[in-house]
Amino acid sequence: MKAELISIGDELLIGQTINTNASWLGQLFSANGISVHRVIAISDDKAEIKRTVVEAMDHCELVIITGGLGPTKDDITKHTLCELFETTLEIHVPTLQKIEDFFSKRNRPMLESNIRQAELPVGCTILTNDYGTAAGMWFEQKNSIIISLPGVPYEMKGIIMEQVMPRLRERFALKSIYHQTILTQGLGESFLAERIADWENRVRNRGFGLAYLPSPGMVKLRITSPNGVEDKPEIDAFFKEIQGELPHYVYGVEAQTLSEVVGAICQEKRVSIGTVESLTGGAIAQDIVSRPGASAYFKGSIVAYDPALKMSLVDVNPHAIASNGLVSEEIARQMAEHGRKKLDVDYCVSTTGVAGPDGGSEEIPVGTVWVAIAGPSRTFVQHFRFGDDRERNIKMTVLTTLNLLRCEILEIHHEKK
Ligand code: ATP
Ligand code: MG
Repeated sequence: MKAELISIGDELLIGQTINTNASWLGQLFSANGISVHRVIAISDDKAEIKRTVVEAMDHCELVIITGGLGPTKDDITKHTLCELFETTLEIHVPTLQKIEDFFSKRNRPMLESNIRQAELPVGCTILTNDYGTAAGMWFEQKNSIIISLPGVPYEMKGIIMEQVMPRLRERFALKSIYHQTILTQGLGESFLAERIADWENRVRNRGFGLAYLPSPGMVKLRITSPNGVEDKPEIDAFFKEIQGELPHYVYGVEAQTLSEVVGAICQEKRVSIGTVESLTGGAIAQDIVSRPGASAYFKGSIVAYDPALKMSLVDVNPHAIASNGLVSEEIARQMAEHGRKKLDVDYCVSTTGVAGPDGGSEEIPVGTVWVAIAGPSRTFVQHFRFGDDRERNIKMTVLTTLNLLRCEILEIHHEKK
């Protein structure tokens, strides 16, 4: 089945909004054996919309249009499709009911323009929107299915998953490709590739695809099977294997985050954690508390950015600062060890470093980071040299620290870099 994706909206053309709808749909469709033939972004313009839809119908069985269904005057998709398919708008009672419920639940007044959102083309299938007020529309014209959806990403995704995919699966024998994503932290893409070369060969020889998806501080490995979920047990076995080989780096699968993984481990092992943060300014604590239920294991954080606060709040020794410098193994160690006592936790992490862009020196360049983890049996301290970008350095330090904490609690012996 061939598909074309049409994204409507001036904001897409002037670069204000990134066309994430198209990339999300592209991924979903390709995973389901629908080949996306063309992706196009156009303005909120009647003639442009008509021309593009007609052209798409000429060579695709499936045309997905997103955007321009809102209550405002610039949203013209619905009217344009009515003209194109020679139909008219009529109040769709169930949709009106839904919109009324939507506003009364939120205790917000309903405007005339919202009522107009219940006016929908006669003769199309209405796709219920459980996340907003603009319903989706499914037209069948000549040999094509034309689906118009709101531009708001989560509304579009909701309608696709709940209304569109089930209908497409019912009508067409869609292939379901199976993906499993393995999450790694601590090895750059090329180093990781070198370490897993044998494993990767075996994965590929078995007929599975392998993609490296790097982002700051982590690399995702996506295994793809063209045969669908029946290959899951084999892919699970490949995951177990690489996890056994690289336990310090492989921390989870799919959409798990490091703070979730660490949280689950803390709960299982019944240990408490805390942070003393300089470089990361509380970002590690923030990441930890983003997981519901964090209060069961996370006790708190000391953000000691200024040297005076490192001394007054965490009892860092002034002589140690004078002889080692603030960004040093010794200071990271003291922050973690003293923080462990002050916060009364089983494990305390600390970070100190030079995030940049300024503040570096020849001996301690921008991107220098020390991370320490003080636990019941030892304090582990490690040095890192990240890059020049401040935001990236902070992000990398957060992920690195959480992964080291995971390893310390699980007693996975670290490899010194
Ligand atoms: P609304 O009721 O909000 O007006 P709509 O169906 O008219 O919904 P748009 O006006 O096109 O949709 O866009 C609504 C929101 O969704 C905007 O914030 C817009 O930036 C975002 N959006 C629209 N199209 C896309 C897209 N292709 N990718 C990502 N975001 C998008
Ligand atoms: Mg709009």
